[in-house]
This record gives sequence, C-alpha cells and structure tokens, in this order.
Amino acid sequence: MSARVVAVTFDVGGTLLAPWPSVGHVYAAMAARRDGAAPDPEQINRRFHAAWAARGAAFDYSREAWAALVRETLRGLTPCAEDPAFFAALYAHFAGPEPWRVFPDVVPALEVLRQGGYRLAVLSNWDTRLRPLLQALRLADFFEVLVISGEVGWHKPDPRLFAHAARQLGLPPRQILHVGDSWAEDVGGARRAGWQAVWLARNSLVTGAPGPDTVPSLRELADRLLSGAV
Ligand SMILES: [Mg+2]
Repeated sequence: MSARVVAVTFDVGGTLLAPWPSVGHVYAAMAARRDGAAPDPEQINRRFHAAWAARGAAFDYSREAWAALVRETLRGLTPCAEDPAFFAALYAHFAGPEPWRVFPDVVPALEVLRQGGYRLAVLSNWDTRLRPLLQALRLADFFEVLVISGEVGWHKPDPRLFAHAARQLGLPPRQILHVGDSWAEDVGGARRAGWQAVWLARNSLVTGAPGPDTVPSLRELADRLLSGAV
C-alpha cells in the first residue's frame, strides 16, 4: 500500500508547457528575420528531436550545451547555425513567454490540487531562465519550491536531485509523487529515489487502458489523487 501523497512535484518541459508553435517554427522564424531565408520548420523539428534524443548524460542544460545542440540542429539548413549572435538571440527569446504555451489542463489541475491541500513543487532539468519564465507565464505562485537542475548541479534522473528536492520539502521520499513526460528521467529517477511517480503520456499512442502509473493529462492525475486512487 502506498504512503499518502503529501506533495506533488512537476516536470516542466512537455508536462506544464511546450515550445509554440514548435521548436522548428520558432527557430525558422528567427533565422528568417536574421538571414532573410526561412529553413523548413518540420525539417528543423526532425533534426532537433534526433539531437535531443541523442544528447546523452553529458548534456548539462548549460548555455554551452544548448549552443552545441542548436548548432547541430541547424547545420546545413541556415547560415545562422554558425552565428553566435543568432544563438544569443534565440537563447534570450526562449527565456521569455512568447515561444511557449502552457498546456490547457495545467492551471485547472494545479487549482484543484491546491484546493485539495497538496503541496506543489517544480522539479525540472532547466537553467536560470526558468524562474522568470514561470513568473511570466503566471505559474510560479502555485509552487512552494522550484527545484531547477542547473541551479543545483545535478539533473534528473540523478537521485541526488530528488534527494535535494525532498529536503527542500522536508518530506520523506514516499510522501512525494512526481509527474513528468519522460519515463527514464521522471518516473525512473523518482522511483530510484524512493518516490511515487506517474508518467504523463500526453501524445502517446497507448493501445488499451493506460496502466495505474500512466495518465493522459494532469487533470486526470488530479482527479485520481483527489479520489484516493493514487
Ligand atoms: Mg519533460
């Protein structure tokens, strides 16, 4: 029998918000403004997702790591790929709210969980741009604690980051539930740290009924928690 959940921590990218209309569309629009010619957004998306999937444990969410990933994504598609001033503008652009959209289920789920007495926190592989971004997107005030990997020095799934978050919350691991869209980083990391975990599968082509550790939306997670099903 699981311990009662006291706090819920949330991943951010793919869980609370996502680039809008897409990484490729944002990169292409900025390249067009700088170079005059727009590369194909869908081609950028394919390149980005391949580079992101292959980034490996060495990716430390630093500005330098992002610069290398963007260069790899755009190489051969636009002269901006090798332009440090372009990367600086892109990096600054993603610090602001304009290229992001909060998923529509996020605020209703956070409101319901807050009313239900749950303590809420963020646990994200991100950098110093995240605090002002969550403020600008009007999400920051829902959370008691923001645990951001680039500030702490460890990244999910490193159990040290989860341990740090548990200390911040002052709770034993089993009383914290983490939700995120990465099975390896969010669910795997949380479970190895002794936490409860639920996988958010927003777009997965799940055949049959989702398992007890999978939800299609954060609203569904909130409903399950409040009905005692988690
Ligand atoms: Mg994520």
